[in-house]
This record gives sequence, structure tokens and C-alpha cells, in this order.
Amino acid sequence: MIKRFKDIFVSLLLIELLKGMAITGRHMFSRKITVQFPEERTPMSPRFRGLHALRRYPNGEERCIACKLCEAVCPAMAITIESEQRDDGTRRTTRYDIDLTKCIFCGFCEESCPVDSIVETRIFDYHGEKRGDLYYTKDRLLAVGDREEAQIAMDREADAKYR
Ligand code: SF4
Ligand code: SF4
Repeated sequence: MIKRFKDIFVSLLLIELLKGMAITGRHMFSRKITVQFPEERTPMSPRFRGLHALRRYPNGEERCIACKLCEAVCPAMAITIESEQRDDGTRRTTRYDIDLTKCIFCGFCEESCPVDSIVETRIFDYHGEKRGDLYYTKDRLLAVGDREEAQIAMDREADAKYR
């Protein structure tokens, strides 16, 4: 009975509301930790596993030698590769697709690649609006690589001594 009276008393005096407002007031003057994304970004590891990219050598040649190790190791079976031999005897892909709706971003493809061709970048804020937008073809992957090469190269170098 006494507890019931106490509850009514507390309720009438809006004690809970005042406690809540006290917390709000305390945080109003404390140091802000909210990050204003996308203008502000939190620090990121050079090993971050985001959107994939295919890289080139500085002379513009594709790194990928169509060994298909990445395709074989991918647990989600998200990679599809077709290849052919060039006139000069080297082998290159004619098709290199990654279905990002299947990908689990495990990084196995990146780890397995003997020539550092397929990599995962720091890009995580991408999206698709229609079916197929997240199906990355060779041209799209190379375009990501061309655009992000400077950052990719820096991240590779930072991580090199641990690999
Ligand atoms: S990150 Fe993993 S799941 Fe995604 S394509 Fe590479 S190996 Fe496959
Ligand atoms: S991306 Fe690397 S692992 Fe995959 S086929 Fe090309 S060279 Fe081989």
C-alpha cells in the first residue's frame, strides 16, 4: 500500500521526467562524440574489407593472370571468371564478375591472389537501387581499382610487413 502511494507521489511530481532532463542537460555540455557522417569519418584500418577492386600495374597492364585461385577459394561462390590466352602467350580474364549480394566480405579472394590483383578497398558507402547494381563486372572492378589505386597502394604498404 505504501509503495503504491509512493509511486503515485513520484508520478505526480514528474520525478522520472526530471531525471531524464537532468541526463540531457549533463550531456549538453559534455564533449561531443557524434561523428557527422559523411563529412566526418572514423579512423579505418588498412585491412578494412569493403568494396572490391581489380588493380593494374603502373604501365596500365592488368595484374590479374586468370589463375582462378580467388574463384576457387570463395566460400560464397560469388566470383565468376572466364579466361583466354593472348597472342603473346599470357593468360588474361575475358570475364571477371563478383556478385556482391552473395559476397560475405571474408577477404579470402584477396589473401589468395598471388599478384595482389583483387583487393578489398575502404569503400563501404555504396549501394544498389536495382537488380544488377551490385553485380560488379570486370570493367566496374577495374574502374574502382583505377580510382582508388593511391589509397590501395598505401594500405598494401602499411600492411606489407605483417603479410
Ligand atoms: S570476400 Fe570472400 S565471399 Fe567475397 S568474393 Fe572474396 S572470397 Fe568471395
Ligand atoms: S584476381 Fe588474383 S587470384 Fe583471382 S584469378 Fe586474378 S590473379 Fe588469380
